[in-house]
Amino acid sequence: MKLSIETAKSLGALNTFGINAKAERFAVLQQRSQLDDLMAHCRAEGGAFFLGGGSNILLTRDLPGLTIQVDLRGVAIDRTHAAGIRVTAAAGENWHAFVMHLIDQQVPGLENLALIPGTVGASPIQNIGAYGLEVMERIASVEVLDWQSGEILQLAASDCRFAYRDSIFKHHPGHWLVLSVTFLCPHPAEWQPVVGYKELHDMLERETGGPATSASPRQVADAVIAIRSRKLPDPRKIGNAGSFFKNPVVTPLECEALLQAHPDLVHYPQADGTFKLAAGWLIDRCGWKGRIAGAAGVHENQALVLVNRGGASGADVVALSQAIQSDVHDRFGVTLEPEPVFL
Ligand SMILES: Cc1cc2nc3c(=O)[nH]c(=O)nc-3n(C[C@H](O)[C@H](O)[C@H](O)COP(=O)(O)OP(=O)(O)OC[C@H]3O[C@@H](n4cnc5c(N)ncnc54)[C@H](O)[C@@H]3O)c2cc1C
Repeated sequence: MKLSIETAKSLGALNTFGINAKAERFAVLQQRSQLDDLMAHCRAEGGAFFLGGGSNILLTRDLPGLTIQVDLRGVAIDRTHAAGIRVTAAAGENWHAFVMHLIDQQVPGLENLALIPGTVGASPIQNIGAYGLEVMERIASVEVLDWQSGEILQLAASDCRFAYRDSIFKHHPGHWLVLSVTFLCPHPAEWQPVVGYKELHDMLERETGGPATSASPRQVADAVIAIRSRKLPDPRKIGNAGSFFKNPVVTPLECEALLQAHPDLVHYPQADGTFKLAAGWLIDRCGWKGRIAGAAGVHENQALVLVNRGGASGADVVALSQAIQSDVHDRFGVTLEPEPVFL
């Protein structure tokens, strides 16, 4: 089946920042039977931009060439393995709806990642994470199409080079189209809630009246949803891409030097001996929380979230992000790295 190609397609409603930009050519991939046609277009154009829910991109210009929105659907649950429940979901499934569907089907394991916007297919790209869990902990394999060779490959999780907000896919943009992701979730009898994140732990104890470690998957998801809804601005109300910067990771020596100058520095020890700093705290200390920069700005409650106050261009957001990076670097000597993909 052929793709239906539109020209000069507005992407304003297809990115959560709400930036008005156009795709020169645009098509929605809805069925695997369209893959041969997709490959022919990709080869003719030298590639394409693969779009999911547009919740981790910053459009800085109209996109030249072909943009493919991935809308493949389907979820299959296989309970026949002793090691866990294998769930394969097509790339276009909405992430949050997928997490809630699994809870309805008594498949635990992804509840800490409830309410993250976007699609299943994008979840391995930056190894999404929240409230003490990274998706790499549940991914068994990622099915990809290499449009240049025409091969469909199953990349094992160990091939994906997952790291904090990082994977092999981030380093080879546009090389593979993610078709589906297979997760290995614990059997309910073996599942343990992940409640190390203090705010989540405390809310669960308050809401359930028992120990957080006895919470059910749905209770964990409900608590995560409640915390996120309170803390993070809703992109339907004000354009944003969630956390705009990654939390920087520093060596023990760097952390020690920073602590001497700033005893209240928010820092988290990592398993490998490094320290993760709270980017939001660094930005807040530079006085950026709530500041307005034309049509762009920093959210009034979340220094880590840059917002489109209405009519901002990608260039407005880039200029704001660079001013923040420069201030944080001058004050703390720390380089902030943006989380969204700049296009
Ligand atoms: C309010 C808000 C809160 C957020 N909270 C979190 C959070 O807690 N944790 C977190 O990790 N992230 C968070 N994010 C970021 C974002 O939701 C995730 O990164 C999400 O996985 C992006 O999914 P998407 O489908 O929107 O991807 P898009 O923004 O469409 O694309 C992102 C990247 O993935 C690539 N891509 C997408 N689909 C495919 C595919 N099928 N094949 C190949 N490449 C593909 C794109 O080319 C692009 O490079 C948040 C964003 C918002 C707006």
